[in-house]
Amino acid sequence: MLKTFLEGHDKYYGISDILRMFYGVITEDRENTCVNAEDGPDMTLVNTLGKDGRSVTVVKESGKKYLFDGPVLEPGREVKRSLYIALTDITGQKMPWGCLSGIRPTLVASEEGSAGELTNKYLVREDKAALGFETAKEEQRLLELIPAEDLNIYVGVPFCPSRCSYCSFISQDISHHMGRLGEYGDALEKEIRTLAPHLNRRVSSLYMGGGTPTVFSDEQFGSILDCIFDNIKIDPECEVTIEAGRPDTITEKKLDAMRSHGIGRICINPQTMRDETLAKLGRHHTSADIIRAYTQAKERGFEVINMDLIAGLPYETGEDFVRSVEKLIELDPGNITVHTLYKKRRATLTREMVLGREDDRGDIDAAVREGYRLLNEAGYHPYYLYRQKDTGHGLENTGFAKGDTGCLYNVAMMSDARDVLSFGAGGMSKRCFEQEGPASKHRVERCPTVKDVLTYIGCSEEAARRKVLFFEL
Ligand code: SF4
Repeated sequence: MLKTFLEGHDKYYGISDILRMFYGVITEDRENTCVNAEDGPDMTLVNTLGKDGRSVTVVKESGKKYLFDGPVLEPGREVKRSLYIALTDITGQKMPWGCLSGIRPTLVASEEGSAGELTNKYLVREDKAALGFETAKEEQRLLELIPAEDLNIYVGVPFCPSRCSYCSFISQDISHHMGRLGEYGDALEKEIRTLAPHLNRRVSSLYMGGGTPTVFSDEQFGSILDCIFDNIKIDPECEVTIEAGRPDTITEKKLDAMRSHGIGRICINPQTMRDETLAKLGRHHTSADIIRAYTQAKERGFEVINMDLIAGLPYETGEDFVRSVEKLIELDPGNITVHTLYKKRRATLTREMVLGREDDRGDIDAAVREGYRLLNEAGYHPYYLYRQKDTGHGLENTGFAKGDTGCLYNVAMMSDARDVLSFGAGGMSKRCFEQEGPASKHRVERCPTVKDVLTYIGCSEEAARRKVLFFEL
């Protein structure tokens, strides 16, 4: 086991993040000011923050010291950097994003102002530094199109027709709760009707996500859309996106219902275009179903279709992922979002299936690079980017767009600089207060809604009233 003792600071969060990147599972032992990595070598490190603000990491057994020879960073970042340098030497591995472990590396890119600084100060690999910097500029451009006084609305549906084996998003095991889907839809409508009369702010974007919002019957899906559009003032210029996700839930009636409200954006997410993988993952559809749903949506005039892919899926090689990218490029949707698989405790995959064996990591990394190259060549540019804790292979999730089709809601939600009002179980509403200094220092207040679907069904009006107070509507 690798033990890392903290001296002169209490930045457990950052130290844990760096250890997790190399060793997966870690445990904090605050009583002994230590963080342990079970899968690490038998070794003890001491990570110190000195009075001069400089951090050094020392191997207790050998006395070997690791520190950065250059400008000092703020303490939280400084201690992470010296530990990262030590671990790259101990393991022989470098991470694509260097010692950046946060979910929004584009914020650091904006603060630093150049790709070179990301590489020099944070040891970010050059291709990722360029990606981070390019994406940060586009995020900023899109963010300026969203007035800070407007609201961005999320409507959450945490249900799916079946559970994909890699899933870490959905909180409800559908086999237990599917029978309550109708009641959930009714509760959602109640929450919207209770809050809507208080809404006195313009809405810039509305995103209905999940789960799979199109899991409802045609009638109930139509009724929820009617409820939204009858009760909330949605200007024609408001961006509205519906995540239709799984093609096995997309029907012509639902597509028609969306178009009848003028909805122009839809997500149809294959995750992979390889049928063998789809079957093994528990997704009850084929790549032909994806193409059918995509064609039906195109025929109905949806302006922007987003399609998600996942790199690093189990049962797939890097080449399989690249082939999926090529197939999507042939379809020519407006947006393609590339995720790298990450795990949370609930997912049913093993640690190795997610973090990957050492020799797989290089393969997926190379495949993602090739996928990005193909997307760039086909005219797609990155417009938003985020990382998740435990992201497999140390990579990131990147939204690509053709022309000016980037999704404003995605940018607003990730920015922590625009207010988001969430309806539905597990929703997180937030108010963002700009403060002097870099964007990473903005103050954010959050108002969560209960995650458990059954509890939410019984209290959705109460959830609405809490948000009226929270937003001071
Ligand atoms: S469709 Fe998405 S949210 Fe639903 S089970 Fe699959 S991965 Fe999870």
